Amino acid sequence: MADDRQTRDAELDKAIGELVAANRILADQGVVDAYGHVSMRHPHDKNLFLLSCSRSPELVEPQDIMTFRLDGSPADGRTDNPYVERFIHCGAYESAPDVMAVVHSHALAVLPFSISSTPLKTVIHTASHIGETIPVWDSQDKFGDTGLLVSDMEQGRDLARVLGHNRVALMRGHGFTAAGRSLGEVLKISIYLPQNAQVYLDAMRLGGTIKCITPGEMAIRDSFGPGGRELARAIEYWANRAGCGHYLRYKKTK
Ligand SMILES: [Zn+2]
Repeated sequence: MADDRQTRDAELDKAIGELVAANRILADQGVVDAYGHVSMRHPHDKNLFLLSCSRSPELVEPQDIMTFRLDGSPADGRTDNPYVERFIHCGAYESAPDVMAVVHSHALAVLPFSISSTPLKTVIHTASHIGETIPVWDSQDKFGDTGLLVSDMEQGRDLARVLGHNRVALMRGHGFTAAGRSLGEVLKISIYLPQNAQVYLDAMRLGGTIKCITPGEMAIRDSFGPGGRELARAIEYWANRAGCGHYLRYKKTK
């Protein structure tokens, strides 16, 4: 029994360390700034997820990681100030069992596509996991004038409905939400999505026909799966570049 508990403690420590590193990676890559957040489903309970208290991602430490239920209430008895927009994560986990990690960002490069009638398409190979369809959620459609934040379960569920089985939904005048089958996959999507948007905008300025990644090419690349050595190499690089490689080996001091 003691061995079981040690194994579970080690698994939770590993998850917390990886989530702290993910926060800092996204900040280092310019995907999040003072705002934005990343979460992962709890390794031992699919009805819970791990997310920092309300701190800027670059500053997140292991002790900031809280455990939430899928309705956004803290499950660990802590009273720290949570992110107002944690319902983005709640909706994504509640609606799709295969979603294991979620990122919310206000990345500038995607915003033109959130306010225009021109849909964002996947055009660079590193962004191929984003998929064919990138829907736009407009809070105005159902909720009228709001503060544009996803601040309750009803809004979180409506965003998840528009996200559907896609990996990314843009949010009108706000940013994007990405849902991945692993923490590494959602990091990759979130890092390359703004780059993909920038390349697409640059190509539009050139004029002429724009060639997108084809569904067949996406399917081949998707068959590589959400894990694997290629992704581990990227995570190691991103974490060390962000100065947080040690969190990938995090173990809480008892
Ligand atoms: Zn936001």
